[in-house]
Amino acid sequence: MKIGFIGLGNMGAPMAANLIAAGHEVTGFDVAGVTVEGAAQAGTAAEAATGAEVVITMLPNGAILRSVAEEIIPAMAPGAVLLDCSTVDVESARAVAEQAQAAGLGALDAPVSGGIGGAAAGTLTFMVGGSEAAFATAKPLFDIMGQKAVHCGPSGNGQAAKICNNMILGVTMIATCEAFALADKLGLSREAMFDVVSTSSGYSWSMNAYCPAPGVGPQSPADNGYKPGFAAELMLKDLGLSQQAAAAADADTPMGAQALELYRTFVEDEDGRGRDFSAMLPRFETRGRG
Ligand code: NAD
Repeated sequence: MKIGFIGLGNMGAPMAANLIAAGHEVTGFDVAGVTVEGAAQAGTAAEAATGAEVVITMLPNGAILRSVAEEIIPAMAPGAVLLDCSTVDVESARAVAEQAQAAGLGALDAPVSGGIGGAAAGTLTFMVGGSEAAFATAKPLFDIMGQKAVHCGPSGNGQAAKICNNMILGVTMIATCEAFALADKLGLSREAMFDVVSTSSGYSWSMNAYCPAPGVGPQSPADNGYKPGFAAELMLKDLGLSQQAAAAADADTPMGAQALELYRTFVEDEDGRGRDFSAMLPRFETRGRG
């Protein structure tokens, strides 16, 4: 397939590399001038999109996606598919999809989970919004870049699934970390805490698969000095998107709102930036109630 790939950052570059390795013809563009081995390099986003059957975008946010979409939609051939894999706000995803469809294009929002490791290994999970036909076109590419693609419904639903999932993740990570810090103060060993909770009703992905306590449970960023992993500032971004969506939809999300405030404090006022989002545990460890 002829593929345009716009945004070759930490995630985009390894995703593009996997498509090239599978034999696809990729033309890449990134404002930072980054290139990927085996890809043709375009001088503009529009040039990368011209003649492509699928154009993939992997960009930082909704505002940048909207401006790139303005530029590439007129350059794309009718029937081609615009496949956005960035994590952006639901409104931007729906606006870009509408614009693409009005120009006779297919459009999919397909944010991912799995992080940089999943992008490199081709084991991402895609949460996809858009038409059945566009999903069918993109499916072989999802199979190369990922291990699972869930079609969640019409445009915007992929982003909706992603931010709801990550709102749960942010809240459960905080709950797991504060419970560990309380257990410490009550004289419970972390091993005992893990053994009980991971097999009791407090279990969660945060406890069982990504335990925030070093030396306990499976290997996780806690065992590597809280080097990300999934950086606290990325969790902050996703919690911000979930609160933005909740405000627009008039949904009551008190725990999500509280999680956003805690990660904002951690990243902006404390030492959270650049640390894994599970570094909430050392944060709580050093604090009292005051
Ligand atoms: P990144 O900052 O490493 O990459 C973004 C790239 O987009 C950069 O190389 C930047 O130069 C480029 N870019 C910015 N504006 C551009 C423009 N106008 N035209 C062309 N290129 C432009 O970010 P990333 O970690 O690769 O993340 C990309 C997206 O994936 C984000 O939306 C992020 O939320 C999401 N995501 C990231 C992770 C992760 O672990 N890094 C996990 C899941 C989802």
